[in-house]
Amino acid sequence: MPGPADEPTASQADPVEGVLFDIDDTLVDLEQAMGHVLQAIPDPALSHLGDDDWVRYKALYTTDPQRHYDRFLAGELTFEEQRVHRVRHARAGFTPEPFLGRVAEAWVRDYEQLLPQHFRAYDDVVPLLDALEARGIPYGAVSNNVHDYQRAKLDRAGLQRIGVLVGIDTVGVAKPDPAIYREGARLIGAAPSRTLYVGDNRLVDAVGARDAGLIGVWLDRTGAGRDRGVDSGTGAATGAEGVPEVPCIAGLAAVLQFLPSVR
Ligand SMILES: [Mg+2]
Repeated sequence: MPGPADEPTASQADPVEGVLFDIDDTLVDLEQAMGHVLQAIPDPALSHLGDDDWVRYKALYTTDPQRHYDRFLAGELTFEEQRVHRVRHARAGFTPEPFLGRVAEAWVRDYEQLLPQHFRAYDDVVPLLDALEARGIPYGAVSNNVHDYQRAKLDRAGLQRIGVLVGIDTVGVAKPDPAIYREGARLIGAAPSRTLYVGDNRLVDAVGARDAGLIGVWLDRTGAGRDRGVDSGTGAATGAEGVPEVPCIAGLAAVLQFLPSVR
């Protein structure tokens, strides 16, 4: 007989029908891939860097404090241009050598050639997708990059099975515009209010999806509360007063806790 401990939980009352994922640094370890490649590209102007310098150099590039990627999303820079601006900024902290002309062209060529070789899915991705399939829960990806580039990235990372992929060119908007999350829900055939959206950026992924009517979940793999959307924009600490609360998980296995129990 059901007792007080068996009160329906939110997930039982309103079961999750589908799961959507961010791609970069959620399914695919892009930060690791970038780090490998930044250090692998031959660059005599950086030959004096020590280990700590490389850590800071990579962080300058990956965290993109000048928000060049946002300028790409706004249509102000091409994808390649945002890369060049980011590496130029990172480089400027370590060398007076200019990053222009043939030096920049060669760097871009090397970067584009090397980066895809390092696209890897996190270890917890495949087990979760297996579990979703076992439960008959459809899934897909919604990303703030163009479809074809992200399709190739998923395939390269061994995630061909993710058939639904919404990019910024799919709907003509980027996260946190509600339309892009909702298109993902539509394509997997789930009601937005019963669709999880899981991503590593607290604001753009979890809060944005929640504001679009989905169930936004913040994946904080490092537990460091790292969130570019909060930190670099306003300087406010993650979870500061006025920043809306969203569910937070430390790994993808925890997605299962949001799903109806298997009977
Ligand atoms: Mg991400």
